[in-house]
Amino acid sequence: MNCPACTRPLTALHIEGVEVDACHGGCGGLWFDNFELKRFDEPHESSAWEQTMVTVDAEVVVDHAAKRTCPRCAVIMQRNFYSAQRRAQVDTCPQCGGNWLDCGELAQIRAEFLAKAVRVSTKERPVLNQHLRWFVSEE
Ligand SMILES: [Zn+2]
Ligand SMILES: [Zn+2]
Repeated sequence: MNCPACTRPLTALHIEGVEVDACHGGCGGLWFDNFELKRFDEPHESSAWEQTMVTVDAEVVVDHAAKRTCPRCAVIMQRNFYSAQRRAQVDTCPQCGGNWLDCGELAQIRAEFLAKAVRVSTKERPVLNQHLRWFVSEE
């Protein structure tokens, strides 16, 4: 499979029993087959493995506005917000259900879960909440 963002060949990584295809040495994007992304989208489920295992080539420029084509089915993917907070976006294939994340988007999705968890305990921990909101809003 080739990267839908920069067309380089993807590298298969084995993370906690799941195969993830990464644009290692390229744009740093990640491909998840249907439902695999659910295994990694919460902060406690992984330790930012993509930031240590995937090397990003700073020379590679990705057009974030461009339509992406599914690396498995070659159909145009749909770009959607991942959660109701409408921050992180993912490209989803309407045919196979796979998801493409640009570099840094997985971290953004985890941050959204963190923000949601904090909102629940706002009354008890206003100072921590303030700190985390600053953290989450930093691009
Ligand atoms: Zn790439
Ligand atoms: Zn597909």
